[in-house]
Amino acid sequence: MFDICTQLYNLKPIGLNTGLVESQTSYLARLSETHSVSVGTLIGKVIAPVLGKGYLLESSSNGGSRFYDVGAELNGFGILSQDIVRVLSQLTGCNTLKSLTLLPLREILTNGGTLRQTKAWCPLCLEEWKNGKLDIYEPLLWSVKAVSICGNHGISLKTQCPMCKKEIPFLSRKSRNGFCSYCGCWLGTTDLKINEEINFQQTSLEYFVANNMKILLEMKDNPTFSPSAEDVYVFLSTIIDNAGGRIAFSRKFGIPLTTARYWYEGRHIPYLKTLLEICYKVCIDINELSKENQTKFGSISRDNVYALPGKQNKTVFKKGSYDWSRVEKILQDIISNEIIPFPSVCEVARYIQCDKKLLYRHFPNLCKEISKKHSSFIHKQKMKRIDEGCQRIKETTKILNDSGVYPSRRKIESLLPSNIQLREKAYQKAWKESLDNLSLNNPSE
Ligand SMILES: [Zn+2]
Ligand SMILES: [Zn+2]
Repeated sequence: MFDICTQLYNLKPIGLNTGLVESQTSYLARLSETHSVSVGTLIGKVIAPVLGKGYLLESSSNGGSRFYDVGAELNGFGILSQDIVRVLSQLTGCNTLKSLTLLPLREILTNGGTLRQTKAWCPLCLEEWKNGKLDIYEPLLWSVKAVSICGNHGISLKTQCPMCKKEIPFLSRKSRNGFCSYCGCWLGTTDLKINEEINFQQTSLEYFVANNMKILLEMKDNPTFSPSAEDVYVFLSTIIDNAGGRIAFSRKFGIPLTTARYWYEGRHIPYLKTLLEICYKVCIDINELSKENQTKFGSISRDNVYALPGKQNKTVFKKGSYDWSRVEKILQDIISNEIIPFPSVCEVARYIQCDKKLLYRHFPNLCKEISKKHSSFIHKQKMKRIDEGCQRIKETTKILNDSGVYPSRRKIESLLPSNIQLREKAYQKAWKESLDNLSLNNPSE
């Protein structure tokens, strides 16, 4: 069917330079579909001969499955993913395929624990793309093991076919994006059983991990951003020092002492998930993780701080009256520790079971300080929400355009939650900028 030298169609990857960039296995599936052949045919007849690996040739043409067994690796940062990038680039003429893998982040990743071995997907995202008549693809983000939810929909990613209940490999001869490769069932749906679904809060660890990973995937192709193992070690050793040494760190963060020592000595890099959990606890976004930010790395663990007022609320009573010196200490602790979410005076009063007015009367300055910090926290949250909204507009514009659909205002709004309306100035600006970017990058279109 194909000659070895046949050039494949120069298919454009979806979502380049966004956190929702397509994965290499997804690209391979779309490439097959574009040529109206199965993934098995494409791999066996076109890719395998160019790849030139004996085992693959034999295995693939003789019906073996070794190559498919390691399909997940195509999205990773090892030799196989590198080889496939090379071969596909050669065959398609597309030179951005490295971005569909974790290769650009290899320095800060560990061999185990980074990639999922079978597919995960958000049924709501798939359904929205289908209804919007967009190309169905699978973001690289979904193949990262640490990511357990869809940050856009706040639901957990699914890992089992709703029909045959099987886990689906990243690569099989009959792979199709958005479909089960065993029974052919469509994996998108809007019909989620509400009671089965946990809606993840924006302040949850799951949300933080999904969002930070998305940031990392977006930044990874930026030439000025190249996180190194050294950055990770500097970050960890600073956190360990700030926590009061390895023993204190180990207790505070629930990390085995030996592991903490290896990190401190720069001998091991943590699993991506663990690294992100530590970032969450110290309120550092992963893109800030560079040596230059060393002074910024705080030591306060989120869990710690949360526990603070609750644990002490019993001791503030002293024979019918308040132990005001303890209350004062609690207020000072709240102010000096950057609690997230930073409480209002009203919430603090509730924590320590004291009337708000009474609290204000005894500690007017501390209360004002807390109130100020709370307002600033609320403001920051709002800015963060707007930033994330802009980010989603940018991604959606790109994905629509990559699918050959004009990213009109109505189209974008139909794909985003109702609280993102383009009549809002910041959102409109983000949309216009994204449109300008598209025309800059594709002057011919
Ligand atoms: Zn989703
Ligand atoms: Zn199935």
